[in-house]
Amino acid sequence: MISGVMPTYARADVMFERGEGVYLFDFSGRRYLDFASGVAVNSLGHTHPRLVKALTEQAGKVWHTSNLFRVAGQEKVAGRLIANSFAETVFFCNSGAEAWECGLKVIRKHFYESDQPERYRMITCAGGFHGRTLASISAAKQEKLVKGFGPLLDGFDQVSFGNLNEMRAAITAETAAICVEPVQGEGGICVPTLDYLRGLRQICDEFGLLLYFDEVQSGIGRTGKLFAHQWAGITPDVMCLAKGLGGGFPVGACLATEKAAGVMVPGTHGSTFGGNPLAMAVADAVLDVVLEPGFLEGVEAVGEAFGRELSALVERHPQVFEGEARGLGLMRGLKCTMVNTQVVTALRANGLLTVGASDNVVRLLPPLIVSHGEIAEAINILDHTAAELAKEETVL
Ligand SMILES: *Cc1c(COP(=O)(O)O)cnc(C)c1O
Repeated sequence: MISGVMPTYARADVMFERGEGVYLFDFSGRRYLDFASGVAVNSLGHTHPRLVKALTEQAGKVWHTSNLFRVAGQEKVAGRLIANSFAETVFFCNSGAEAWECGLKVIRKHFYESDQPERYRMITCAGGFHGRTLASISAAKQEKLVKGFGPLLDGFDQVSFGNLNEMRAAITAETAAICVEPVQGEGGICVPTLDYLRGLRQICDEFGLLLYFDEVQSGIGRTGKLFAHQWAGITPDVMCLAKGLGGGFPVGACLATEKAAGVMVPGTHGSTFGGNPLAMAVADAVLDVVLEPGFLEGVEAVGEAFGRELSALVERHPQVFEGEARGLGLMRGLKCTMVNTQVVTALRANGLLTVGASDNVVRLLPPLIVSHGEIAEAINILDHTAAELAKEETVL
């Protein structure tokens, strides 16, 4: 019999009762070090006092009014995102896929209104992930996402990630935009060279295309900059955000320049729940913390130290990990020699929560408030878990 909760996830058999900082506690009181962060969502860890305060204070005022009226929180959060990015306008929604799809609509409308309706296609990259709606799986094209869900939406061409020659070669008279994640998350924590990102900007300028960055996972400080593309010193025309923005409260945002999104007039897009006062209060509080002087520098420093520790770890355990430790800031990945889910399960049994990714990678996505001591604790668990796994492998 089918489970009451539609079984679309292979869930681990553990349920959490509460969380505090980088720790989660299950119903038996067992403590876990949370380096999954609800898939890069709990950017400030669990029950951060500033977020609890912002949410509960707003809960006593007003929860939802719809977008038929002005929403104070939206105007404030949009203003802060604009002040700290390339963008000039922001659309609020509830999830990454919705934020991504808003960007797609902005791009199509932009070219339609510029008398180039034939330019509707977007080039995406293999290994990319943009959500689970039909449009976003049509864009990502990955077999495991799309099988059985056709016919897919037309208008997406795909090239390999990190290859500018392939990107150039894929451009036709119908191309409107290039969409990539500056650091691929679900694809296995793939960090391209900064010259790749700069090259994408150059190509878009040369061919009159819009550059669209999906920073749903890499944004809001995850890599040590507010947005991962800032490492390359370039800007996109459109960008989507979600995961870390709400610190655990569902919220998404699509940011764009006026040039790209000037076509979005009343009636062109909408969301009933998008940007409601609760979501905006929490997003505003997340930005309070992340934008505090020194916070992102701290993420960068602890992320770099984590990266060094992970490189050493991989060298100590060649039976379990292969290649180089991947990542940037607090967005890290380890490629496994054995099935990654086996490693994720063994780490969880030893009290460390991680997330699997494509390319047989284990993702390490600690909250941005993680300390050097907590990083050391994670490395310790990784070390003895890898030793156990290597020993089992040898016995077999
Ligand atoms: C998670 C993710 C999405 C989809 O977000 P949802 O909130 O699950 O819809 C889109 N793009 C990237 C890069 C992501 O990591």
